[in-house]
Amino acid sequence: MKRELPPTDGLPLRAADLFGRRADLGLTLSRQLNIPTPILTCSGTAALVVALRALRRRMPQRSRVIVAAWSCPLVPLAASACPGTEFVLCDLAPDSLDLDPDRLAALCEGPPPLAIIVTHLAGRISDTGPALAAARRCGAAVIEDAAQALGARVDGDSVGLRGDIGFFSLAFGKGLTSGEGGVLFSRDPILATELAQEARAALPFRPGIELRRCAELFGYAALYNPVGLRGVYGLPLRRALRKGDDAAAVGDDFTEHDIPLHALGRWRESVAARAAARLPAYWASGRERAARRIALLRALPGIRVFSDRPGEQGVWPFLLLRLPDRATRDAVMAELWTRGTGVTRLFVRALADYPAVAPWLGDNKALAQARRLADCTLTITNSPWLSDADFAAIVECLRRKLA
Ligand SMILES: *Cc1c(COP(=O)(O)O)cnc(C)c1O
Repeated sequence: MKRELPPTDGLPLRAADLFGRRADLGLTLSRQLNIPTPILTCSGTAALVVALRALRRRMPQRSRVIVAAWSCPLVPLAASACPGTEFVLCDLAPDSLDLDPDRLAALCEGPPPLAIIVTHLAGRISDTGPALAAARRCGAAVIEDAAQALGARVDGDSVGLRGDIGFFSLAFGKGLTSGEGGVLFSRDPILATELAQEARAALPFRPGIELRRCAELFGYAALYNPVGLRGVYGLPLRRALRKGDDAAAVGDDFTEHDIPLHALGRWRESVAARAAARLPAYWASGRERAARRIALLRALPGIRVFSDRPGEQGVWPFLLLRLPDRATRDAVMAELWTRGTGVTRLFVRALADYPAVAPWLGDNKALAQARRLADCTLTITNSPWLSDADFAAIVECLRRKLA
């Protein structure tokens, strides 16, 4: 029977995770990551909404939020729930996932921004240095978007602690999941208190949505495996690709401007807290597998594999590769996207090029690097269900297309 591997290495749930007494996710994560006790939210996007609303209360005259031009479309869509904010895109540095420091400095020359978002994409650690320096000069806050980087450390510390505010996502496929969910924290106790107040006001308990999310989490526990994923991931993927809709294929075709804002229910919190006990072992085996596979990819000419720099210890939901050009990337995808072995793409466009996002953006120019990343990258799942033989077949396909 044909298998369908997940595009990212999500932590699978066990039956025992679903039952038992209440478990405290905030406490579990704060101990594991050595972060202050976080605020739990219904999604990473909701965490960002809460953060931006709290910052607006401090600096009501500021509206601009600077973010990397290649990121999750939900990030600028958060403006729809934060009246008075707009997103300004900053291109990435050449050959990098970091913000371009010169572009960032130039963007901070204008009306002073409310916040600069540093995004730790693909489990990699982005350099917070230029954002902290620019923020100090213009009085902006730094938010670390670590939605894809729960467990990543830099010089031994969790990501999210260098900026003023950090958040993780607990959505399906990001690693640990509570159905949907988010984790919001600040190393500054005063700001943390303001975030907690804002979260209480913004995220009421909503039984209808909670019931739906519980059913979805139950579905994840049952279907997050190479057989179950054929129906819930493989079928919609193939349907989208037949229609030529690459944004739908990767699930970043957000059209709804309405961001759900509600509390994270206790059962879902407890499920994630019980599963979280396995995180250290899961991160360690993911690192070991990624290191082995990156070594094989490095033998191919013309491929850039994004990985850690000295002092960084990222996490590996998937491997992010940049190919020499769009034609080669597309040729590889034509062969591998529907093969069921967890090869896909991250964000298929630069943020400015999603029609749904455009209304929430200020002036945006010079996004060449973001477009290059959208055009030339692909991802390979780091799921343990991808066998060494599966991986060898992917490497062989890359070798042929690069020749
Ligand atoms: C997924 C993601 C988000 C949003 O998180 P949700 O929990 O899905 O709302 C924000 N930023 C990045 C980089 C993401 O990948």
